[in-house]
Amino acid sequence: MACKICDKIKKGSKLKIYEDEKVIAFIEEKPAVLGQITLLPKEHFPILEQVPDFIANHLIVIANKLSSALFDSLNIQGTNILINNGVTAGQKQSHFSINIIPRNENDNINLEWKPKQLDEEEMSTIELKLKEHTAHIGAFEKEKKQKPIPETKKEVIQDEENYLVKQLRRIP
Ligand SMILES: [Zn+2]
Repeated sequence: MACKICDKIKKGSKLKIYEDEKVIAFIEEKPAVLGQITLLPKEHFPILEQVPDFIANHLIVIANKLSSALFDSLNIQGTNILINNGVTAGQKQSHFSINIIPRNENDNINLEWKPKQLDEEEMSTIELKLKEHTAHIGAFEKEKKQKPIPETKKEVIQDEENYLVKQLRRIP
């Protein structure tokens, strides 16, 4: 059950560059390129499919901000925001992560593939297979609202008081 990433999150690290209640980001110790960032949900989820929608949403927002930070600080020409989802896809740890990789011309990182030309039968078969499973996408898990904090209660009470005061003023 031990997860190296969960341990690292608990212990903390000098290489931490961002943290909020849901996610945390570290500068990668063994990067493809200097400045590569690893962004993680703080809770343990092995693959993307298991990450709740509201955390997945937040991860992509923060990945975008971290990418902007790389542009601003390193004078780079691009970023790859990369998810290796599953061992076959190159996932090295059992804790879901997003890699944010700074890119420059001639950096010798190869994430490209040679495009294949499909024939019509292959095309229609894959279309049918996929559409069967994409028809019902669209229901999203929402974050549970936290219990109201006393501050909010105060506001409500004040509002009620204000309301009463306004009502009183109307009384001749
Ligand atoms: Zn973990």
